[in-house]
Amino acid sequence: MADPEEPLELGEISFTDWNAHTDKMAEVAFLTVARRLPALVVQALRMAWAASPRDAVAAVGFNLAGGAFTAFGLLATTGVLAALFSGGPTPERVQAALPSLILVAAAAGLRTATQAGAGWAQSRLDPQVARVAEERLYGLTSRVGLIAYDDPDFHDALQRARSRGVARAGSVVSSAINALTALIGIIAVAGVLGVLHPVLLPLLVLAVLPDAWAAVRSARMRYTTMYALIPANRRKWIIGELLANRTSAAEVRSFTMRGFLLRMYDAVAMAEQRVMLGLARRQTVARLVGETLGGVGTGLVYLALGILLAVGAVPLAVAGTAVLAIRSGQTSLSNLMFATNRLYEEGLYYTDFLDFCSDAESRLPSERPTPAPTGFSRISAREVTFTYPGSEQPALREVSVEINRGEVIAFVGENGSGKTTLAKILSGLYEPQGGRVTWDDLDVRDVDPEALRLSTAVIAQDHTRWPLTARYNITMGTDKGEEMLASAARVAGADEVIAELPNGYRTLLDRRFKDGAELSGGQWQRIAVARGFHRDAPLLICDEPTAALDARAEHALFERIREHSGGRTVLLITHRLASVRYADRIYVLDHGKVTEEGTHDELMTVNGLYADLYTLQATAYR
Ligand code: ADP
Repeated sequence: MADPEEPLELGEISFTDWNAHTDKMAEVAFLTVARRLPALVVQALRMAWAASPRDAVAAVGFNLAGGAFTAFGLLATTGVLAALFSGGPTPERVQAALPSLILVAAAAGLRTATQAGAGWAQSRLDPQVARVAEERLYGLTSRVGLIAYDDPDFHDALQRARSRGVARAGSVVSSAINALTALIGIIAVAGVLGVLHPVLLPLLVLAVLPDAWAAVRSARMRYTTMYALIPANRRKWIIGELLANRTSAAEVRSFTMRGFLLRMYDAVAMAEQRVMLGLARRQTVARLVGETLGGVGTGLVYLALGILLAVGAVPLAVAGTAVLAIRSGQTSLSNLMFATNRLYEEGLYYTDFLDFCSDAESRLPSERPTPAPTGFSRISAREVTFTYPGSEQPALREVSVEINRGEVIAFVGENGSGKTTLAKILSGLYEPQGGRVTWDDLDVRDVDPEALRLSTAVIAQDHTRWPLTARYNITMGTDKGEEMLASAARVAGADEVIAELPNGYRTLLDRRFKDGAELSGGQWQRIAVARGFHRDAPLLICDEPTAALDARAEHALFERIREHSGGRTVLLITHRLASVRYADRIYVLDHGKVTEEGTHDELMTVNGLYADLYTLQATAYR
């Protein structure tokens, strides 16, 4: 048994992606924040407007009105104090203060009402903004050209936008509005002080500056600590997944790894905890220093006010109001600092989201006016060349093939020879860099790829196991009637699979949910075949759907597909040559090139690669 004291190897943790902003954060100076802020506020307001114009206007409008009532209330306070501090018997002074008092009460009531309205509008905005941002993200991820998913840069950006950026949309908006609100509060107070006596304005600054410093400092400490902790956090999260995930649950038990994993978790968690405790201490110190200095500042303010009073520069009532105003200004300022820091931090992540969106938009297929064909009499590829992004070698080199309506065509060749890539190009999933693909006279580059894809059905080797019901796994959300569903399932042999499910077609094919069922690889494959048939498209592409099965099963399936193709054009892709004997035409691919083409008999006579491989495989199966 391993020594529990032995230090654990926690491995290298990649910093790059997760610390993309550390450098930026490290230099979060006050001015940097201030400079970026207006743009962020504009972006946030624009997003709030997109989510709900009414709530956006209400949130900002109510806050503005709140600021106005604050100022009004403070000014009315001067009236109250002036009346109370004047000479004469008390009942008379109170009576004189009454009108101002009513104004103060009214202002306070209205301010409370507007604040409630603003709070309501803001909390309504949050879920709406989140929804708009998420829908924008997933609307784009599902529309960008498939090739984007082969680009590591796209993946990085997507990961950043998805894991953090999109979730920040709501808080960017609320931080922006909070910052605006606090700013309005400060302006109101400053206005009041300016009206009361100009010298009171610098006093406000003196009273609020130390707090502002402490707030910025403590926030920066938190950010830098959080950033330093990101790799540890990720590691902890990954171990947590292993401890609590279905896929690893069996092995955690069979290899009795529990203790080991928990120990690893604890090592990271303890390190993290130490750092967090240190942070708490440093933040407390900063806050204490800030508050002490703030106290000194406030003391100085009162001293200055006292002097002003003594020399008769301001009346007592004005000084009293100034004290109240400065207190209110301090609160607004600390709110502003908090909201600003938050806005800046959230803004960094949110910018990831915006950057991703604009990148994804540039990857959307262009508008194409030519209507897509609904069928074809001949699909042809001429001199098609295609290289995956980031690859040195082309996956296809000047490949030409032809597919006529009603034919059964086969692409054969060894793994990696380019069969799948070619099929994806023919069905409009990728666009070739050289050569052209036409559906009759139409160049696929000129038609909307999404519309073109309506005419193709693909049964792929790595088909998705959709966590949906059996029915949706075949219909893919379309409704072509029970008849169609049943016949597609029958042809694929999926009917037998479904008959055994507890709720038939309504069974959820995902064990992570209650009443969900699990299918075997072979059963899933039948569902995938049924899906291809149900689509009822003029071109059916079967891309090694049986790779996980043996040669005999593949042969049987291809035969079934051929028999039930019902006049459809079928493209079979495989590296098992016995399955395609009866195809109308066979293309042999080798290292991205078509090296031979013809019927089985013709290719056997040529005595080339096909004949070689066929003989080799036939011997192996014998
Ligand atoms: P086949 O279907 O004949 O097995 P593919 O068309 O899948 O072959 O692959 C052709 C070549 O392109 C292979 O060298 C493969 O490594 C490469 N390739 C396939 N998919 C990608 C991808 N998404 N990104 C980069 N290279 C790829």
